[in-house]
Amino acid sequence: MTVLGFTDENTCCDRCGKMNLKGTFVIEDADRTIFLGSDCVKKAYQMTDKEVTAKVSEATKGQRELAQTEFTLLSTDIKNKIETFKVNHRGQRLPAFPEYVSLCKELDSIKNNIISKYPLVTWL
Ligand SMILES: [Zn+2]
Repeated sequence: MTVLGFTDENTCCDRCGKMNLKGTFVIEDADRTIFLGSDCVKKAYQMTDKEVTAKVSEATKGQRELAQTEFTLLSTDIKNKIETFKVNHRGQRLPAFPEYVSLCKELDSIKNNIISKYPLVTWL
């Protein structure tokens, strides 16, 4: 069995059927992917909270790094433009500038794309 990560997109446990969980652990077991609540992960695989957390962090480390690298790469240009805009319009109401608003929207959409591309990475 492999812990692939934690997701808040599936809030129902495949083992006991409990619903409305905060999220589930994504587990690969015997070539199938199952979603388990934390109690069931611990029971089914005799793991402690600490072990489960460590597995998730280990499993998503690579993805987290990829996501961060990709976000930095895609967002640097926009972030610089936003900074320049702030410097050039110091003391002014920035949201009043359509150009500023559209830069912020662009940055948001880059962020959202990364989030949907790496669903197992926990974003805090
Ligand atoms: Zn369960």
